[in-house]
Amino acid sequence: MEMAIVESVGSIPLQDPPEEEFSSADLSWTKFGNAEHHDEVALIPYDRVDAFIVGECSNVLCPTRFHIERGRKRTIGTLKEYKDDEYLEYRLYWCSFGPENYGEGGEILPSRRYRLNTRNRAARPQSMRGCTCHFVVKRLYARPSLALIVYNDRRHVNTSGFICHGPLDRDAIGPGAKKIPYICNEIQQQTMSMIYLGIPEENILEKHIEGIERYCGSNAKANSLASQYVHKLGMIIKRSTHELDLDDQASIRMWVERNRKSVFFHQDTSESDPFILGIQTEWQLQQMVRFGHRSVVATDSSFGVKRLKYPLFTLLVFDSRQHALPVAWIITRSFAKPDVSKWLKALIDRARSVEPGWKVNGFLIDDAAADIDLLSEIFGCPVLFSLWRIRRSWLRNIVRKCNNIEVRREIFKRLGTLVYNIWGGTNTSVALEQFMLDFVDQTDFMEYFKVSWLPKIEMWLSTMRNFPLASQEASGALEAYHVKLKAKLFDDSHLGALQRVDWLVHKLTTELHSSYWLDRFADESDSFQNVKEGYIASTSWHRALQIPDSAVTLDDKNRLFAKVASQKDNSLAHIVWNPGSEFSSCDCSWSLQGNLCKHVIKVNMICENLKGCQPSMSFRSFEEVLMDLRRKPVDDSFELDVSLAWTHQMLDHIQKFVELNNSHDIGTIVNDMPLKWVSKKGRTYVGKNSSISAAISRIRNTESVVIHKKNRKRKRLSRLR
Ligand SMILES: [Zn+2]
Ligand SMILES: [Zn+2]
Repeated sequence: MEMAIVESVGSIPLQDPPEEEFSSADLSWTKFGNAEHHDEVALIPYDRVDAFIVGECSNVLCPTRFHIERGRKRTIGTLKEYKDDEYLEYRLYWCSFGPENYGEGGEILPSRRYRLNTRNRAARPQSMRGCTCHFVVKRLYARPSLALIVYNDRRHVNTSGFICHGPLDRDAIGPGAKKIPYICNEIQQQTMSMIYLGIPEENILEKHIEGIERYCGSNAKANSLASQYVHKLGMIIKRSTHELDLDDQASIRMWVERNRKSVFFHQDTSESDPFILGIQTEWQLQQMVRFGHRSVVATDSSFGVKRLKYPLFTLLVFDSRQHALPVAWIITRSFAKPDVSKWLKALIDRARSVEPGWKVNGFLIDDAAADIDLLSEIFGCPVLFSLWRIRRSWLRNIVRKCNNIEVRREIFKRLGTLVYNIWGGTNTSVALEQFMLDFVDQTDFMEYFKVSWLPKIEMWLSTMRNFPLASQEASGALEAYHVKLKAKLFDDSHLGALQRVDWLVHKLTTELHSSYWLDRFADESDSFQNVKEGYIASTSWHRALQIPDSAVTLDDKNRLFAKVASQKDNSLAHIVWNPGSEFSSCDCSWSLQGNLCKHVIKVNMICENLKGCQPSMSFRSFEEVLMDLRRKPVDDSFELDVSLAWTHQMLDHIQKFVELNNSHDIGTIVNDMPLKWVSKKGRTYVGKNSSISAAISRIRNTESVVIHKKNRKRKRLSRLR
């Protein structure tokens, strides 16, 4: 019997299958529309949408994942007239084996065998198969508790109509391939990451098989094919080259052509336009949407100005452990307003195409020369300033250019005082003059200071005075990224390649990307314990949290220095000079390389709780913001009420912070909390890490995380997004 076409949403039956997860096969589908055009639809409660997506991913014949290809949102009340199927939220989910086809020219792959070492081909194994399977979830404008699923293309086939992945794909990977599914993105990414990190092949294989068995169960044939797969992928990666063409520019054009999904902006060099390449993989996009929303986005600007052909600009978010995670790379020499605004807008549009309403609460810069007006206009949020870059340059140059240890720490301390004086009313130019007189015999350092800093120091200081300053935790996290980038890129074996953009792109998108991917994966899935531990300890802030308070002794009298006993060897101690300041230095080797070391951070954590110690720069700057607010004249308008309410809420927040901070019996307060505060900003994790990181992301991102009672389910869902 021909099924009738239904014309109103009211006539579509509401279905709510009892299973924890369900798929399209568990629903009955209604034709909705009119005789000329109709869709296959089903109506379910909105809060069961996740259960449907999980179920649809576990399709036995075509196991897959669905990602959000496009999204749109409306606000209630914005439509006066609307049809009964109008959306409040619209999301287009696409099978992750599509929509692109990475075969030549977008056609079906001529041969579905391994594409081995065909020179000039980036290692891009066959995960994008051009699958057309997709559906739309509309949260109804008229009835927000309901979701209408529009699902016309339910088969996992490519545009030619052939099943393109899963065990039914007739000519999958080589002979006998019917028995094994294609490797989905996640397992492939995992395997690639492990290869890039140089993990032994047998360990890679073991994890690879574990991954496949989640889809198709254990099977000897599949295992032997998996072993070939891992081995061949290793060969592909080993032989893959950044040099797609001898000419760098042509090579980059080819790379862009082959990696469209990872490029959010590209402008080739021409007479009128400078070269700009904006790279963001889909995984990075997901991370930016997830961790950047209502949080802080930061930059590591002008990396490699002297050594690379074009400097690298990185955008970072702070992940669930407050570690800096690179979510976009921009390679260009141009920082002209029109150029910057072009790529920034492209990037934000991209995030909003996935998550409408995506918004940043603060943008953290590290260079006073940045176009602050432009940034705050485009992101529509306040700009914060981090001291890490200036601190690092000064310390590195002091260590490099002054031999005497006492002179070193005195110069650094004086520079610190200069910075701290931005609120003190001291005349900067007089203080600077005195500083240069006092250290006039340090000719090397003074030469550097005069050339590199004197012309711009006023500008930097005024930026620090006028913008909120970021915490040491954020500074440490950004520095950790910077150091990692340096280690990966300036490893001596590549000296000849530094002037090639294709090499830089290759390094970023393979090794660096893989390493961050695996770090996050290890943490979220609680696997790869050594990777996970290394990742957690990758910022000096986290390393400082491992030092007990008892290891720190302060020189009581003048507080000139503090001693931190070594945890490994009790007879060893590190000396931190100028404790309680961002400009304190330590005698450990990490600090001597210009880094913010764990000893300095630990000592400062302790100093923040001591009477008579100056507060940190970021706290001082926060106080300034509050004082400024007090001084502002206001009228008696409704705006004032709103601001008052906000301010109270914020003060409440701070009050709780301070209470915790000053309480003698902190234990009683934190007993019920998932987080334990050891000092103002110092957190230690109690209990099992996976639940903690979930708790943190819940706190940080209350809006976007739906709390499910079932952990397993939450984990799976977080991977879908
Ligand atoms: Zn598919
Ligand atoms: Zn140190």
